[in-house]
Amino acid sequence: MDQNDMALRLADAMFPEPLRTPEEYETIYPPRPLPPGARVTRIAPSPTGYLHLGTLFTASINYITAHQSGGVFFFRLEDTDKKREVENGAADIVAGLQYYGLPADEGYFGPDDEKGDYGPYQQSKRASIYHAYVKQLVRQGLAYPCFCSAEELDRVRAQQEAARERTGYYGRYARCRDLTPEQALEKIRAGLPYVVRLRSPGDPEKRIRFDDLIKGTIEMPENDQDIVLLKSDGIPTYHFAHAIDDHLMRTTHVIRGDEWIASVPIHLQLFRILGFKAPKYAHVSPIMKEENGCKRKLSKRKDPEAAVHYYAEQGYPADSVMEYLLTIANSDFEEWRRTHPADDRSAFPFSLKKMSLSGALFDLNKLNDVSKNRLCLLSAPQITRMILDWAEENDPPFYRCLHADEAFAEKLFAIDRGGPKPRKDLARLADAPAYAAYFYDELFDGRYDWPENVKAEDIAAILRTYLPLYDPALDRQQWFDGLKALAPSLGFCPEVKEYKKDPQAWRGHVGDISTVLRVAVTGRRNTPDLHSILQLLGKEKVTARLQRALDKGV
Ligand code: GLU
Repeated sequence: MDQNDMALRLADAMFPEPLRTPEEYETIYPPRPLPPGARVTRIAPSPTGYLHLGTLFTASINYITAHQSGGVFFFRLEDTDKKREVENGAADIVAGLQYYGLPADEGYFGPDDEKGDYGPYQQSKRASIYHAYVKQLVRQGLAYPCFCSAEELDRVRAQQEAARERTGYYGRYARCRDLTPEQALEKIRAGLPYVVRLRSPGDPEKRIRFDDLIKGTIEMPENDQDIVLLKSDGIPTYHFAHAIDDHLMRTTHVIRGDEWIASVPIHLQLFRILGFKAPKYAHVSPIMKEENGCKRKLSKRKDPEAAVHYYAEQGYPADSVMEYLLTIANSDFEEWRRTHPADDRSAFPFSLKKMSLSGALFDLNKLNDVSKNRLCLLSAPQITRMILDWAEENDPPFYRCLHADEAFAEKLFAIDRGGPKPRKDLARLADAPAYAAYFYDELFDGRYDWPENVKAEDIAAILRTYLPLYDPALDRQQWFDGLKALAPSLGFCPEVKEYKKDPQAWRGHVGDISTVLRVAVTGRRNTPDLHSILQLLGKEKVTARLQRALDKGV
């Protein structure tokens, strides 16, 4: 029997189960009928944790890249590591992408729930596909079973380290590479466990070049490691599954974390050996964090803001988070937003080329600013709905107040909303309870931030004098004119300009009077429009608040 026949027999012994051929898979998963230029991208998370910011960031870039080109964005679940899987990890990631407005067009949506013609989209259900391709490689002599034990591999590694050689399974260290098919067959028949390795044709003296769409042209030595394709349990490694899946799912652009960049020589080699056209690669730098003046990767373990749940709990709306991620993805997004305040983000000309090479810095203050700019644009009914939903889950006492009279709640959030210069008080929905507390007796804390420049006796006099006077029927102008008219009797100047000419002549000015009233009613010096607040509270409540402040004293 010649070597070829032996290789066929070896392949059959390794994969006795009935398998389709690679040619059949080519017809089952034909090239996608998409217009030229349409990009097919994917997010391919492992369910080893909950959705984290890096995955959301990478997903958003894949999503935009596909959709701006009229292509497809799909979800593949890379669930090959059952030991590290966390319960509900996959469900959390799918739900999170949905919540953040990045639902996949096709792919895995849940156990036994998938959409699309290129599935299964769950790697644990693709074993026979991987096996079909490995079987073919074994037949061609391009892959072989390796029986080295973990201890043997450790021993070789130690030798390599001692001799200051490159570590790994390559060249003369690739012991099982030289087994004849007969010898390998014998070991398989004896029931020895084995992995399947690639017979790498690479030469480390030669270099490969590829154009990364984010990082530019990169050169690296060819891969000569006989990497593992299938582990001893028949499960593929990331490298092999990547080549098979992204080929058969017809991915055109692999946009992924840059921890994979060093593996590109392996991946390009696999695509070539398998006879597949390689996808284009774009490697995304991780989101960084500054700590004690040093930049480091945002850490899943150390940083609460790395978990996407953090943002919902803190009451950052999904829209704010996505808006923020786009500001760190493309630095000219902010400029675009200034000139297109009301446009949908999808109209922004996003480009992979504009992405940071070194890793964008995560900045909570910036997120707050971005979020304020978004929240101030919402209509009163919109923001009220969001706050109600947030409070129902996160702040039941506040929810009860709002819910008791939702029309009132909407009016309070309508104050100073709309118009060319809306106030930017809320960065998070969680800022709403403090913002709105003084509208509710149950929440009003009764602390007063009295202005230092007004004497206690004057504060008392202002409150006492104004107590019977508030008339909710007055419009803003009439109301303020009333304060001006009252001012001289209290020793306050009715005009700020006049007051500035000779401050010594007065106890203060009309603005101080309104500040005293503002503090008496709300506790704060800085609030939205006072006239609107007083009107919304109504005569009875305003009078009661003034009385309470007076009773409490300064
Ligand atoms: N499962 C891999 C990861 O989570 C996917 C990388 C890729 O996008 O190819 O890192």
